[in-house]
Amino acid sequence: MERTYRLAEHFISINGEGQRAGELALFLRFAGCNLRCDWCDTAWACGTDAPYEAVTAAQLLQIAADAAEAGVRNVTLTGGEPLLQPDIAGLMRQLSGMGLRVEAETNGAVPLAAFQGCGAVFTMDYKLPSSGMERFMHTENFALLQAQDTVKFVCGSRGDVFRAKEIAAQFRPQCPLYLSPVFGRIDPAEIVDIMKEQRMGEFRLQLQLHKFIWDPLARGV
Ligand code: SF4
Repeated sequence: MERTYRLAEHFISINGEGQRAGELALFLRFAGCNLRCDWCDTAWACGTDAPYEAVTAAQLLQIAADAAEAGVRNVTLTGGEPLLQPDIAGLMRQLSGMGLRVEAETNGAVPLAAFQGCGAVFTMDYKLPSSGMERFMHTENFALLQAQDTVKFVCGSRGDVFRAKEIAAQFRPQCPLYLSPVFGRIDPAEIVDIMKEQRMGEFRLQLQLHKFIWDPLARGV
């Protein structure tokens, strides 16, 4: 029987975050997650009862081909946690082989060693204390990240920003470091104040564009 992927939704929008923020992308959102972050904004896609459609690789490649035909150059794999899908590495290779830039948004709780050479770039979250999930972070992933990848520190509190600084100093990832406020939990201006006070010149503040363009709770945008 052909292997299938649990696709929660797919749509074309702009990348709301990451190095390609603002560019059009095909989003493939997969159901299921191995974490339960306190402030998760896609909890509906995480549980065992998350709604999904079982789709084959061929169906996903056709969706991607249609997007490419429409002028889209980026594919963002998201979730939930997309790297938990069976043979997601094979899918990433095939999407990359189509000439698309493939970005996997991963939660930091999946070892990345198995995904080296897949043709994807990674935007890896580091879950800070306010998420309640920091103990699940695979810190060995930091050594695998390269210039095209990104670490996203999602900050839900002032303490999270200080912790991000500590983690970056300890593991020194060789890629851009983003501070991303949890929408509605911390004022971005507060993060800028801490960046100035703490001399955090190696970080960039990043706002989730889609939360400002559309209703923060809207799906499929
Ligand atoms: S890792 Fe992402 S999708 Fe999973 S619970 Fe945390 S915020 Fe939600």
